[in-house]
Amino acid sequence: MTALEAIIQRRIAQTGPINVAEYMELCLSHPKHGYYITRDPLGADGDFITAPEISQMFGELIGLWIAHVWLDQGSPSPFIFAELGPGRGTLMADALRATRNVAGFHQAMQVWLVETSPTLRAKQAENVPKANWASTIEEIPDLPLLLVANEFFDALPIRQFGRDGNGWRERMLGLTDGALQWGLALNLPNYALDTQFPNSPKDTIVETCPIGQAIAAQIGVRIRQHGGAALIIDYGEWQGTGDTLQALRQHLKTDPLSVPGNADLTAHVNFSALAKASNLKAWPLLTQSHFLENIGVSQRAEILRRKDADGVNAAHHRLTHAAEMGTLFKVLCLTSAKAPVPPGFAQ
Ligand code: SAH
Repeated sequence: MTALEAIIQRRIAQTGPINVAEYMELCLSHPKHGYYITRDPLGADGDFITAPEISQMFGELIGLWIAHVWLDQGSPSPFIFAELGPGRGTLMADALRATRNVAGFHQAMQVWLVETSPTLRAKQAENVPKANWASTIEEIPDLPLLLVANEFFDALPIRQFGRDGNGWRERMLGLTDGALQWGLALNLPNYALDTQFPNSPKDTIVETCPIGQAIAAQIGVRIRQHGGAALIIDYGEWQGTGDTLQALRQHLKTDPLSVPGNADLTAHVNFSALAKASNLKAWPLLTQSHFLENIGVSQRAEILRRKDADGVNAAHHRLTHAAEMGTLFKVLCLTSAKAPVPPGFAQ
C-alpha cells in the first residue's frame, strides 16, 4: 500500500466516502505525496510523453501562432504570455526561441507560468529563466492575455455521475474489508446535469470538471476585459459521455486505484463545458492534426528534416497521424466576440 493510500483509507474510515474529484486531487496534488508534487513524470523514462516533448515543432508553431494573434490584435504592450501546467517548460522555451525575431513581441511580453508543483517549477526555471510563476490565473497581472494550455485540463479533478431513474448518482470511493472500493451515492435530482446532458438514458455516465470550468471562467473575464486569446489543447471531445478516468504508469494503462499517488490520473476534456464557462467566442474545435497542418507543421518539418530526417518524420507522424495523437487531441481557441479570425481556424 502506498503512503498516500493509507492516508486516503484513514480519511474515508473517519469521515465517509469521497468523490472522484477528491480522490484525484489527493492523488495528484497532496502536498507531500501527490503525483505531480513529488516527481517529473514526463519523457521516455517517466510515465507519459506530451507533444512538446516529442518535437520542438510543437512549441515553435504555437509560439508563432501566439505572435500572429498578438499582431492581429494590434500588438498590445504590455501583454501576458501565460502557460497553464507547463511541465518541463519545453513548449514555452521553444515558443520564445521561435518568436525572437518578431519585432516588439518580446519587449512587450511578460511570461507567466501557472504551476503548483515545486519539482516542475524548478525544471521550468532551467528552461525558461526569465519567467514569473503563479499558482492560479488570478495572481497574474491584469493585462491582455495570450494563454496556452497543453495537457493541463485533463489533469484537473473530475466528478462522475450515473443516470438512474429521474436522478443522478455520484460515483464515490469507499472502503470494503480494508480495500478501496467504488460505489454510488444516493439518487438525487440535479438540474445542472439535466441541462448539460439532456435526455440521457438510464446508466449513462457523465463527467464534470468544476475546477476546469472555474479556470475557464477566469480566463474569460480577463480576455473579455483586455483582449487576447486562449489556446487549449487536450484529449477529449466537444461533448461526450462515459467513464474516461484513466491511470498511466510507465506508459501503460493501470487501474486508477492500484497505486494512489504513483500513477498519473487523467480524464477526457469536455470542450463545450469549458467554452460555455468562459463566456467567450469558441472557434470551431479542430483536431490537433488539422490545427498543426493549418499552421504549417509540414513546412517546418521539411526544413528540420535536413538535419534529422528519421527523427522529424517520426515526430510529424506522432503529432498528426490519426492512429497517434492527430485526432484524439483537439484544439480549442477562445477569444472575445469581436477578435479577428485566429490563424488556423475558420468561422
Ligand atoms: N503542458 C506540459 C505538461 C502537462 S502535465 C506538457 O505538455 O508537457 C500537467 C501539468 O499541469 C504539470 O506541469 C502539472 O504540475 C500541472 N498541474 C496539474 N494540476 C495543476 C493545477 N491545479 N494548477 C497548476 N498546475 C497544475
